[in-house]
Amino acid sequence: MSTYRTSRRGTRVALAAAITATAALIGPVSHATPSTTASTTPPATASGSPSPGAAGLGDPLFPLDGNGGYKVTRHVLDFDWKAPGTAFPATATIKARATQSLSSFHLDFAGNTLRKVLVNGATARTERDGDELVVTPAKPLPEGSRFTVEVAYTADPTQIRHRDDAIEDYGWIPTPDGTVLYPQPNGAKMIFPANDHPSQRAPITFRITTPPGLSAAANGKLVDRAEQPDGRIRWTYDTEQPVAAQLAQLAIGKFTFVDSVGPRGLPIRDVVPDALVEPTAAYRELTAGHIAWLEQRLGPYPFKRYGVLVGDTDLGVALETQTLSLVPKADLLGTRVDAERNLVHELTHQWLGDDLAIRTWSDLWLSEGHARFYERLYSQEHGGDSFEAAMRTAYENHDLWRRDFGAPAEPTEPNLFKRMRYDGSALVFYALREQVGDAAFRKIEKAWATEYRGRTVGTADYIALASRIAGQDLEGFLRPWLYGAKTPPMPGHPDWVVTPVQG
Ligand SMILES: [Zn+2]
Repeated sequence: MSTYRTSRRGTRVALAAAITATAALIGPVSHATPSTTASTTPPATASGSPSPGAAGLGDPLFPLDGNGGYKVTRHVLDFDWKAPGTAFPATATIKARATQSLSSFHLDFAGNTLRKVLVNGATARTERDGDELVVTPAKPLPEGSRFTVEVAYTADPTQIRHRDDAIEDYGWIPTPDGTVLYPQPNGAKMIFPANDHPSQRAPITFRITTPPGLSAAANGKLVDRAEQPDGRIRWTYDTEQPVAAQLAQLAIGKFTFVDSVGPRGLPIRDVVPDALVEPTAAYRELTAGHIAWLEQRLGPYPFKRYGVLVGDTDLGVALETQTLSLVPKADLLGTRVDAERNLVHELTHQWLGDDLAIRTWSDLWLSEGHARFYERLYSQEHGGDSFEAAMRTAYENHDLWRRDFGAPAEPTEPNLFKRMRYDGSALVFYALREQVGDAAFRKIEKAWATEYRGRTVGTADYIALASRIAGQDLEGFLRPWLYGAKTPPMPGHPDWVVTPVQG
């Protein structure tokens, strides 16, 4: 996510939050959870007798997000879309495998009107409790068994949530003639019944029916476009690779698909509202060069295709939805320097944040800090501001940001997307580069993006890999940068001074 172009409302909210921020810091994240499964999932009982799946994965910031007791292997989403801001029929089919013997299980689901839930074709009992949908199948599900859940509901795209940090509105976001999605951080549950946590990934098949004259776009590949007997169009997309719910994208509007080719023949397809094709062309055409630049630093682009979805919305937020970054139109109608910063930021996330998924929300610094680091590095090399000057400013403010927003790896829920996760976390990578030198830093970064391809990663993984590649134990160096109230000295810059914090 990128909110470099801060909206007026965003500025006001950020100032208010900065004044009222509290320091209810959580403890450091656990460094003893090497697996990608949640530590809070209760083990199956010794006898294998059925028990309820856990309501959440126990994330330090969002404990009820995600669900225990099963793994999703595919979502199939059928959306019979009608018009902006209008309810429509929807069915979500979830294919899953039980990891314990289940008497009941949870889905993350908010808003919308539930109609019916079937498990393996039989009607299931359901209960809605806040953002949790508790499903009790007619018969328990044995450990290891594969099962199918069909959730029929009436989708309510007027359900929009708001955060007082940089995200602003999220969920279904209407456009003049259609919609785009801002699911981050946990608004996918308003779109479909999900395992709504960044560590949980499964491929998605989208089947979206639109009125004639409109187009649908989604993550991955367009596999079919079929006119229905009533003239409506059914669009089928497949993500091809697993995707976290927060990175799902589904857009509807009067679109032009603009095809081009990136490095090594990579298909690029931008999805652009018809009236914005020409005005945004000059900046969109920079994408192939951005990919080539990032490939030098992070290795091959991780997915089978890419594209920019130009958002016809006033929200000042870009989002790294997988293989199809959502960039609001204003970001592509201003200066080239600003446009490239947003484009490179979201593109960086395709490697770091999308392909390398974060294990908990406390690991967000790895994703946003990296995206901001490469956004600023690229910009400096292409006519933008001095990277070093920006990092000096971040350094001066770091104690203040630690107090108000938590240290880079110690976010609190309301401060998750504040500046500490952006420039404040890019500063950690800047400090590491100063400590080990540019050549070693580039080796660390390429190893990070390539050795962990397609995997779920956490803070301890980065510290361990950096130490191994640099040939020195960096735990003692990196931990004070990531945790606690006090900013350490910046290597190579003894003249940099942190602004003292009162109280
Ligand atoms: Zn970002």
